[in-house]
Amino acid sequence: MQDFIDDLKIKEILDRAARPERSRVEEIIAKARELKGISPEETALLLQTEDEELIDMIWATARQIKQAIYGNRLVLFAPLYIANYCSNDCLYCGFRRSNKELTRVALTMEQIASEVRVLEREGHKRLLMLCGEHPSRSSLDYFIEAIETAYGVKTEKGGEIRRINAEIAPLGVPEFKRLKAAKIGTYVLFQETYHHETYQQMHPTGPKADFAWRVTAMHRAQDAGIDDVGIGALFGLHDYKYEVLGLLFHALQLEKDCGVGPHTISIPRLEPAMNAPAAIRPPHPVSDHDFKKLVAILRLSVPYTGIILSTRETPAIRNKVFNLGVSQISAGSRTNPGGYQEDSSEGFRAAQFNLGDTRTPDEVICDITTMGHIPSFCTACYRLGRTGRDFMKLAKPGLIQKFCRTNAILTFKEYLLDYASSSTRMAGEERISRLVEETPNARTRQTISRRLTKMEKGQRDMYV
Ligand code: SF4
Repeated sequence: MQDFIDDLKIKEILDRAARPERSRVEEIIAKARELKGISPEETALLLQTEDEELIDMIWATARQIKQAIYGNRLVLFAPLYIANYCSNDCLYCGFRRSNKELTRVALTMEQIASEVRVLEREGHKRLLMLCGEHPSRSSLDYFIEAIETAYGVKTEKGGEIRRINAEIAPLGVPEFKRLKAAKIGTYVLFQETYHHETYQQMHPTGPKADFAWRVTAMHRAQDAGIDDVGIGALFGLHDYKYEVLGLLFHALQLEKDCGVGPHTISIPRLEPAMNAPAAIRPPHPVSDHDFKKLVAILRLSVPYTGIILSTRETPAIRNKVFNLGVSQISAGSRTNPGGYQEDSSEGFRAAQFNLGDTRTPDEVICDITTMGHIPSFCTACYRLGRTGRDFMKLAKPGLIQKFCRTNAILTFKEYLLDYASSSTRMAGEERISRLVEETPNARTRQTISRRLTKMEKGQRDMYV
C-alpha cells in the first residue's frame, strides 16, 4: 500500500476554489442537504467561502444534517492514558522524548484497574485507551494486557467497560489481528498533518517520522478485520483547509479500497503542552470561527462519519459546535497516566497536553441535557456486530437512528439511576419523559417505557 496523499493536487484544488461564486456555493449546500456527501472539489469551494451569509447557511445545513442522521445524541467516552514513555519527538506533544521534565509513567495492571474503577464509578462504559510509542514500555503485549485488564474490571451497580477503542502507533497486519482479537471497538490513529513537509518538520525522529507507514495504517487495520477505524488531524500544524481535504482524501481512499470509510473523524486543535514548541506557538492557529466552519463543512462532506470532540476545547466552544455535527465527546478527561485516581494538581507534569474543559462528567452531562442533547453511553452496535459495512448499510438509509435514539435513552436512564447527582437526575428524568412522549411510533414508545420500568426495578444493560 502506497502513500496516497498528493500535496500538489490538494493545493491545486484549493487554489482553483479561491473566491467561489455565490450561486455555486448555494448549489453545493443544496446538494449536501441530500445527505450523500460532497466531493473534495466541492468541499474546497465551501472552505474558501468567506461570505458570512453563506457561512451561516453552511452552519444551518450542518445542524440539519446532524439532526437528520444523529438526532440530539452525544455519545460519551473517557480517554485512558496508560503510559507516557515515547521514542518519538513530536514537536507538539508533552510526551516527546526530549521533554526531560515530564514525569514518565507506565501504569501497572493494578494501577490500570484502579483507573478503570474510577471511570466506571463516574458512569463511563466506553474508553479510548492510549499510550506513547515505545518498544518496551508501551509494547503491544502490554497494551493488550491493559485492554484485558480494563474489560475485566467490574464495580458495584453493574459498573463495567463495554467498549474499548484503541489509539496505538501503527502496526502491521499480524499485530492488528492481535488487537482485533483483544476485542477493541474502533482503531483510532491521527495522521496529525496530511501535509508532507509539515509532517517531516513536526516528527524529526523516531518511527513516527514515516508518513507513509502511518497514512496506510487504516488499510492494514481493515486487512486485519478491524472494520471500524477513526482518523483525525491535529488542527494548528498546517492550513486547516488543507487538513480538511487531507481527511477527506483519506476517507475516500478507504471507501474505495476497503468498501467502507472511517467510522469517526477527530478534530483536535493544538493545546499548550509542556516543552512542546509547536503546541505553545501553533504554526497555523485556527480561530474559533474557522474551527466552527471546519466542523460544519466536515459534517456536509462526510455526513455518516461520526465527529469526535475532545476536552481540549473549552465548554463555550464545545457548546457551540455540538449542534454543528459532533456525535461523540469525551468528558472528565485526564491526559496523564494515573490521572483519574490522583488529585491532579501535579498531573500536568505527566500530561500530554492541557485541557480546555475540566468539568466533571456529571457537570458535562447536566449541561448538555439542559441544552437539549441526549447523553448516550450506548455500545450496542459494536456488541451486536453492527460495524464497518454493516453499520453503514443501516446508517445510510436512516435505519440506525431508530436503534440509537432508543439506546441513548436507555443508557442515559442507567446513568441517572446509578451515577447522577440529584440535579442531573432531575434534569435527566424530565428530558427522558419528554423524549418518550415525543416518540412518534407507538410500538417503540411502549418498548422504551417497558424497558425504563424494568430498569427502575433493577434490570441493566438493555439495548436494541
Ligand atoms: S504525539 Fe504520540 S508519538 Fe508523538 S511524542 Fe506524543 S506520544 Fe509520542
